[in-house]
Amino acid sequence: MAEAGEPRWRGKQLAEALYRQKLTDVNAITTLPGSLRRRLMEAGWTVGRPAIVSVFRSADGTERYLVRGNDDQTMETVWMPEGDGGETGDGSEVEETDPTLSSTLLAVGRRMDGAPSKSEDGARRREWDRATICVSSQVGCAVNCRFCLTAKLGLQRNLSAGEIAGQVVAVLDRHGVEVGRDRVNLVFMGMGEPFLNYDEFMAAVRLLVEEAGIGPLRMTVSTSGIVPGIGRFAREPDAVRPKLAISLNAPDDVIREEVMPINRKWPIGAVIDAVRKVPLRSRERVTFEYVLLGGVTDRPEQAAKVARLVRRTGLPAKVNLIAWNPGPGIGYAMPSPESVEDFRRTLAEEGVPVYLRRPRGRDIYAACGQLKRTVEAEGIGNRE
Ligand code: SAH
Ligand code: SF4
Repeated sequence: MAEAGEPRWRGKQLAEALYRQKLTDVNAITTLPGSLRRRLMEAGWTVGRPAIVSVFRSADGTERYLVRGNDDQTMETVWMPEGDGGETGDGSEVEETDPTLSSTLLAVGRRMDGAPSKSEDGARRREWDRATICVSSQVGCAVNCRFCLTAKLGLQRNLSAGEIAGQVVAVLDRHGVEVGRDRVNLVFMGMGEPFLNYDEFMAAVRLLVEEAGIGPLRMTVSTSGIVPGIGRFAREPDAVRPKLAISLNAPDDVIREEVMPINRKWPIGAVIDAVRKVPLRSRERVTFEYVLLGGVTDRPEQAAKVARLVRRTGLPAKVNLIAWNPGPGIGYAMPSPESVEDFRRTLAEEGVPVYLRRPRGRDIYAACGQLKRTVEAEGIGNRE
C-alpha cells in the first residue's frame, strides 16, 4: 500500500480483509475506497487463498496437498492430525503439562455420560484434537542432502511470503480450523531450506503471527545448518521467532559431510556456535533432528557420540530421531526397528531427552524427506 502511494494503515485494512474477512475479490474490500480498488484491479492485483489442486490421503489420516502458487509450480503442504511434526517435548505442549489444565481434562475424562468434550458446543465432531501443518519454503531445494528426495528436484524457485503463509491458511480453511479454539502447530519442514529464503520466510512468519494469530511458540523452523541464517534468526524479536530445529543427522563432521555435503561449508561446531546465540524463552528447547540411515548413522557407538555432542553444547536441547523414509533412487537403507530402539535408549540413558518421530503418510510420499511433487505417488493412497 505504501508503494502504491497510500497511507500505511491501508495495509492493515487489506490484511484484515484477507485474513479475517477472508475476502477473495478486490472489489469486495469495501473498507478501501472504490477508486483505490479499481486501481488495484487495473494493475492486476488479486486476493484470496492459494488453491489446493491435489489431495493425497494416507491410511493414517495424513493428507498431502499440492497447492497452486503464483505460477504453475505447485507447493507441497502436509496436514497431520494428532500429528507428530516433531513438536513433542520442545515446549509447545506447555498446556498439557499445566497442572490446572490437566485436572480439568481429568474431570472431563470422568464425565458420567461419556460425551466427547469436543462436541459439547454442538460443533461438528472432529477426528483430531490437535494438528500439525508442515509447510514448504521453496519449490525444491539446493542443499543436496544425500538422503532427501526433495534434493533431487534441485532448487526450482523461492516461495513468496504470501505463498508460504497461503499454504497455511488454505489448509486451515479446508479443515475449518479456528486458531485460538483449535490447537495447531506449524513446522517449516516441508520442501526447501527456509534459511536460504530468509526474508520471505520471516515475512510469512510475521503474517502468520500478526494476521492469522498463530503464536511463534506453535511454530518450529528446521534448518540444515545455514549459519548466516541462524545468525539473523537469533536477532529476531521473541514475538515473531519460531522455535528452532537443527538437522544434525550425524555424530561427527566426517559422516555429516558424507550425508550432508553442506557440512563442508558449515561444520557442526560452526552451527552450534550460531545456535548458542539464539535467545531461548523459558522452557524452550532446541531440537536436534537425527535421521537414522541403516548401517550409516544408526550404530550404537554413534548414539553415545551424539549424546556427548548434544550434552557438550550445554544447550537446553532434545533429539528427535527420524527413521529414514525411503524414496526412489536413493541408495540408503531403512534402520531396523531394533537399531532405532537401541539408539533411542542409549540417548535416554545418557540423559538426553529423545523422541522418536512417528512417520506420517509414508504411503503417500508425505513423510519427512519424501516431498517432491511426486508423479511417483500417483495411484498411491487415495487421491481426491
Ligand atoms: N530443509 C530443512 C527442512 C526440511 S527437511 C532441513 O533440512 O532441516 C525436514 C527434516 O527431514 C530434516 O531434519 C531432514 O534431515 C529430514 N529428512 C530429509 N529426508 C529424509 C528422509 N528421507 N527420511 C527421514 N527424514 C528426512
Ligand atoms: Fe533440503 Fe532439508 Fe532435503 Fe536437505 S533435508 S535437501 S536441506 S529439504
